[in-house]
Amino acid sequence: METASGKETLTVLRRLIRYTEKVFHVSRDVMAPLSDRRLEPRIATAAVVKSALVVFWARLGSLNAWALVGGARFWQHWLCEPPCSADSLGRIHALLHAEALRHGIHHVYERLKRNKALPDMQGVGVAVLDGHESHASYRRHCAGCMQRTIHTDAGDRIQYYHRHVTLMLLPGAPPGRPAVRLLLDQEPQRPGEAEVDTALRLLTRVLAAYPRAFDVVLGDGLYAQAPFFNFLLAHRKHALVVLKDERRTLYQDVAGLFALEPPRLGRYRARACCWWDVPALDSWPQVHAPVRVVRSLETSVVRRQLDHQDDPQTSDWIWATTLPSPQVPVDRVVRFGHQRWDIENYGFNELVNEWHADHVFKHDPNAIECFLLVAFLAYNLFHAFFALNLKPTARRGTTQRFWASLMTAELHREVTPHSLSP
Ligand SMILES: [Zn+2]
Repeated sequence: METASGKETLTVLRRLIRYTEKVFHVSRDVMAPLSDRRLEPRIATAAVVKSALVVFWARLGSLNAWALVGGARFWQHWLCEPPCSADSLGRIHALLHAEALRHGIHHVYERLKRNKALPDMQGVGVAVLDGHESHASYRRHCAGCMQRTIHTDAGDRIQYYHRHVTLMLLPGAPPGRPAVRLLLDQEPQRPGEAEVDTALRLLTRVLAAYPRAFDVVLGDGLYAQAPFFNFLLAHRKHALVVLKDERRTLYQDVAGLFALEPPRLGRYRARACCWWDVPALDSWPQVHAPVRVVRSLETSVVRRQLDHQDDPQTSDWIWATTLPSPQVPVDRVVRFGHQRWDIENYGFNELVNEWHADHVFKHDPNAIECFLLVAFLAYNLFHAFFALNLKPTARRGTTQRFWASLMTAELHREVTPHSLSP
C-alpha cells in the first residue's frame, strides 16, 4: 500500500520521472528537440535542461547546491551522460533557444488537454496574467536589465532589475482531483517598456500557440486600458479586470448607478454579498464594445481572538468585463474576479518561496528567461503528477513541500561521504 511515510515515497523523484516519461514522453518529445547556439557542443542540450529541471523539482535553489549532489547515482540514468559543471549549466542556459522550451510547455498542455485533465471553469476557459519583478541589484546588470533611480541618504543610486509578464491557465478540477493550474508562458519586460505592451506581445504569441485554451483573460487594475480590451476583442476573447481608478469616467458613471439600483443578494464562499450588475455601459468610448461593470460588496465575520466577539469586515470589489450578460451570470463574474489572485497565490508566491525561481542562476537576459521557462516546465509537470498520479490516500495530509523534500533527500542520500570529502 502506498502511504505518505512508506518505502514507496522515498523514490518519489524516480516516480515523478517515470510518470512524466509515460504520460508526456518528456525525454523524447520535450528534451530531445531542444537546442542551443553552441557550434560544437560536447554536452547534450537535453542533459543541461534535465539537470535544471531537477534543480527546481528538488528545490535545490542554486547551481552550487546542485553541484554538491553531482555524485548521485540518479544522474546516470536520467542524463545518459555525467552531469556537467555548475559553470557550464549557467553558460549553456545563456545560449539556449527559448522557443524550443516554449514548445515543450505546449506539449505538456496538449497531452493534459487530450487526457481531459484541464476542463473549463463552468463552461468558460480562464487565464490570468500579471507582471512580476524577479530581483533587483545595484551592482550587477546586463543588457536585459531595467533601471530606476533610488533616492538614498547617500545620494541617488541606479538600481537594476528584471520584470516579466506571466500567463497562467486556470482550469476547473477534473473529477475527484485537484485543479492543475499551468504556467503557459512569460515574456520579459524590455527596458523602458510599459507592462501592458509586454503583455500584448506575450498574448500575441500565446494566442497563436493556444488559440482555444481560454475565453477570458483576468488582470489587475493596471489592465483597465482600452488597448488591452480592444486587443482581446479583436481576437474574440474577453477581458475581466479590476476597476479601481476613481478618475475614470466609467467608474464615476457606475458609482451613480449603484446608488440608484437596489443590489441582488448573493454569496461568495462564506461571505454575504450585495451584487450590482450593469450590463452594457458605453461610457468608455475608446473600447470597441459596451463594457459591463460588476460590483460585489462582501461581508465576512471574523471572530476576534482577544474577546471572542464577532467582527464584521467588508470589502468592495468592482470589475470591468466584456463577458456577456446573461450568458455569464453575475455570481460567475464575481468568482472569476477573485481568481485574479490565483496567479499571486499559486503562481508567483509559490515559484519564489518554494521553487526559488527568482534566484539569478546566471545574470544574462537569455539565461534568466530560459531558467524561468524550465521552472514553468518543472512546476507544470510536478503539479500534474501531484494532482493526477498520486492517489488521494497518498496526497492526504501531506504538502507539496513534503514531496519536494523527499526528492531532495533522495539525491542527498546517494551522495556518499567519500565524494563529499575534500
Ligand atoms: Zn540584468
